[in-house]
Amino acid sequence: MDKAHELRWNPLLGCWIIVAGHRAKRPWRPEEKKHFCPFCPGAPETKDKGEWDVLVLPNKYPALSLDAKEPTRCDELFKSGRAVGVCEVVIETPEHEGDLCDLTLNHMKKVIEVFTEEYVKLGNIPEVKYVAIFRNKGKEIGVSLTHPHSQIYALPFIPPRITIELRNMEKYYKEKGKCLICTIIEKEIKERTRIIYENNAFICTLPFYAMWPYEVHVYPKRHVTSLADLSDKEKLALADALRVMTGTYNALFDRDMPYIMVFHQKPTDEGAYEYYHMHIEFYPPYRERDKLKYAAGIEWGMWTFTYDGIPEEKAEELRKACLKFLSRSKEYLGKCGGSI
Ligand code: ZN
Ligand code: ZN
Ligand code: FE
Repeated sequence: MDKAHELRWNPLLGCWIIVAGHRAKRPWRPEEKKHFCPFCPGAPETKDKGEWDVLVLPNKYPALSLDAKEPTRCDELFKSGRAVGVCEVVIETPEHEGDLCDLTLNHMKKVIEVFTEEYVKLGNIPEVKYVAIFRNKGKEIGVSLTHPHSQIYALPFIPPRITIELRNMEKYYKEKGKCLICTIIEKEIKERTRIIYENNAFICTLPFYAMWPYEVHVYPKRHVTSLADLSDKEKLALADALRVMTGTYNALFDRDMPYIMVFHQKPTDEGAYEYYHMHIEFYPPYRERDKLKYAAGIEWGMWTFTYDGIPEEKAEELRKACLKFLSRSKEYLGKCGGSI
C-alpha cells in the first residue's frame, strides 16, 4: 500500500474520511465489450473459481485493507487513523447485463444469502465496526463496471448516517418503549398512500420524509437488526421485494434506471443496538425521465433536501410502474404473498 492510504479525521463534522491515493488510478468504464469484462466467467479474476452463480472477490482497488499502516499523524486537530478493513465485490450473476429484477427469485435469494454470510464473517473481524453493503447502478452514479455487482466495505468505524439513525432510534425507544421503524410501518400500512409494494414480510414505501424524488425504503415487517436475523422465508421475501422494486424502477420511465441501493444494518462492534431496525434504501437520481436531481448547494452544502413534487403523487407513479412490472413478470406472483 502506498503512503496515501489512511483515515483522516474531519474535526468540523466529527467524521472520518478514507484517503486512498491509489484508487485514483482505477480504470473508468474500461470495458464496453464483453470480453474485456473482469467479472465475466473466464476473465483472469474469475476463471479459477469453478462453476459459480454468485461470486465474492476482493476489491482490486481497496480503500481499506487488514494490513493498513499505523497512523502517521495524531495531533489533536490533524489526526489520521489506520485504514483498516476489507473491500469486496459481490458479482451477482455470470450474466454480463441486467439488473436484480432479471435474476430468478431463487438466484436473488442466493445473493441475499451471500450478503448475509459476508456481513457475519466480516463483522466478526475485531477491527470491523460496521459492514456497509451497497449497490451502485448506472453511469450517472459513476459505476466503472457495468456487469451486475454490489460492493461491501467493512469499516473500522460507524458511518455518520448510521450514527444519526442509531441516535434517533435509541431516543425513540427510550421515550416510547417501542421501535421507531416498527411504528412507522404501522402508520404506513394504516395510511396506505405511500406503499409501493408489500409481501408477507416486507413493505416497500416511498417514505413520508423522502429526500430523493423516487426514494424507496424496504422495511422488514418483523423487528430485525440485521440480515443475520432473517429466516429463510424472510430472505425469499426480501429477494422478492428487491426484484420487484428494481423492476418497478426500470418500468417507471421504460428505461434502465440508475440507482444507489444501501443496506442499513446494526453495527458489528460490541454494542447491543437491539432498538435498531434494519432496512434497505434506494436513491434513484432522476426526477423525470431525462432530468437528474442534483444534490447541489442546499442539499450537499447544507444537507437540507428540497423535494421536487409531492411524495404521495410520486408513490402513485411508482405503484403504476409496479403494476406494469408485475403484469410482465407474473411467474413469481403470490410466491411471497405480494400485493400493491
Ligand atoms: Zn461481464
Ligand atoms: Zn422495529
Ligand atoms: Fe436508513
